[in-house]
Amino acid sequence: MTTTLEPQQLQQIEPYLYLFQGAGSFRVNSIVLEDHDCLYLIDTQLEDENNHALIAAIKTSFPTKPLRLAVISHYHLDHYAGLPLFRQAFGAFEVIGPPDARRCMDAATAVIWEAYERESPEHQLTPADLLYPDREINQPFALAFSGRSFSMTLIGPNEAWSTLIGLLPDTRTLYISDLYFGGIYIDPRIGGTVLGWQRAMEQIITIPAEQVIAGHTNRLYTHADLRQFSADLSAFVAECQQLFSAGISAVEFQNHVFQSDLTVYAPDFSLANIYQELGSVEPSERCF
Ligand SMILES: [Zn+2]
Repeated sequence: MTTTLEPQQLQQIEPYLYLFQGAGSFRVNSIVLEDHDCLYLIDTQLEDENNHALIAAIKTSFPTKPLRLAVISHYHLDHYAGLPLFRQAFGAFEVIGPPDARRCMDAATAVIWEAYERESPEHQLTPADLLYPDREINQPFALAFSGRSFSMTLIGPNEAWSTLIGLLPDTRTLYISDLYFGGIYIDPRIGGTVLGWQRAMEQIITIPAEQVIAGHTNRLYTHADLRQFSADLSAFVAECQQLFSAGISAVEFQNHVFQSDLTVYAPDFSLANIYQELGSVEPSERCF
């Protein structure tokens, strides 16, 4: 079993399940499921170059199998940008994703487009090229392939509004996309709240998973990693709430040395957003 992911390789992880990690700084993971007579894709790549490489790898590995369905785990541009290129390459296939697609995708496209242009030297797409899902999913469903089954369910709203996560009950492998990438990045413009993320992780660790595929990491994780992340996140939130109870100012909050081991990406930006979130609005009033 492979646990280290090589960029731009379609690597078999389990029977009929392949993982493709893009090259570059985003390193998005796309999943290809092989059914008897067709293929399913879970999440595209961000950059044209990675999308073209994934399309070529699929066509080389499965020359006779059409792509029948693409599942978008959550509405961040790095996971759906490739849809128009897949349509060009494979023709008609259905696209499904979580609820509220247009609003969430339009917001994420606006925020992340600059990164697409920066990270993708070709960047031949325009926002008008992007495709919305054909169908929005708001209840659990099973995606059957080659005698196996991906049990998909919605988590959230959280870091990325709602996220479709998937468990393979036979091997207990879980796909959770961006709900785990080793730390938190809080940007309310694309759905992120620290309390939403904490709630999502508390739900996720109740799932009987062993191996974990995440949205951007270059190796597979374990359920113990998720439990540790969830505990670190809860300790971080508790510490924040203590600081708020003590009346900490925004400047003091930015300069505070946290006891928690939790990694906070872009700390100036994320901490400013966390200060806004925890300091100004009751959790029960917050929604997307
Ligand atoms: Zn992502």
